[in-house]
Amino acid sequence: CGIVGYIGDQQAESILLTGLKRLEYRGYDSAGLAIVGDDGLVVEKRKGKVDELRSAVNGQPLRGTLGVGHTRWATHGPPTDENAHPHTSVTGEFALVHNGIIENHGVIRQRLSEKGYTFESDTDTEVLVHLIDDIRAETDLSLEEAIRQALTQVVGTYGIAVVSSVNDKLIAARKGSPLILGIGDGEYFIGSDAAPLVEHTRQVVYLSDGEIVTVSRSGYEVKTVENVPLEKEVHELEWDL
Ligand code: GLU
Repeated sequence: CGIVGYIGDQQAESILLTGLKRLEYRGYDSAGLAIVGDDGLVVEKRKGKVDELRSAVNGQPLRGTLGVGHTRWATHGPPTDENAHPHTSVTGEFALVHNGIIENHGVIRQRLSEKGYTFESDTDTEVLVHLIDDIRAETDLSLEEAIRQALTQVVGTYGIAVVSSVNDKLIAARKGSPLILGIGDGEYFIGSDAAPLVEHTRQVVYLSDGEIVTVSRSGYEVKTVENVPLEKEVHELEWDL
């Protein structure tokens, strides 16, 4: 339902939690965070409100300057801690959040189960996570390339954001579900709408359907899912706080 992402110099946790609060107006049943820091990739997620997630992490702050957050509105699988996003790859290499519905999740789940993948959730989203992992295992593709390939195999709608402990990048893509890149001063934001971005920056790039953005600490690159590089216009957000 709601996505927020961050890469920059600041601690990601408070930016993500505040961003998730800004997305609450859309409605949701669960919330979660994935942060990449000195301890690698750490995920905290649960059924319930963002404030409950905040209390849970308050005791033990997640330190790191790259991360994603999600508010889930369940479509596949009931609202539970396990079904909450982010979903983590079996390798522990990356975590993914997803808005929308993967319609062909059944056939892909079947195929991956036969290859030995086990599923920890009932979500359509976890199918996409293991599909990316499987492409990584079968090829020598980079994570970004594997995500791109996986997206060509799924039918349905998605706004996704991925963080990884191996490449120090924030990768996001969309089809039928909105996604915005916010450009700050040496930092970048991803939002499923402008609400979590406006307090940080007014410079934005609107991703279109079938586009994927790879954001590093020094810049960003937008391509189509078919691997065609794009020059995207930067827009000025008009929004009264
Ligand atoms: N289909 C996904 C799920 O049920 C994502 C739902 C959403 O957009 O929040 O977990």
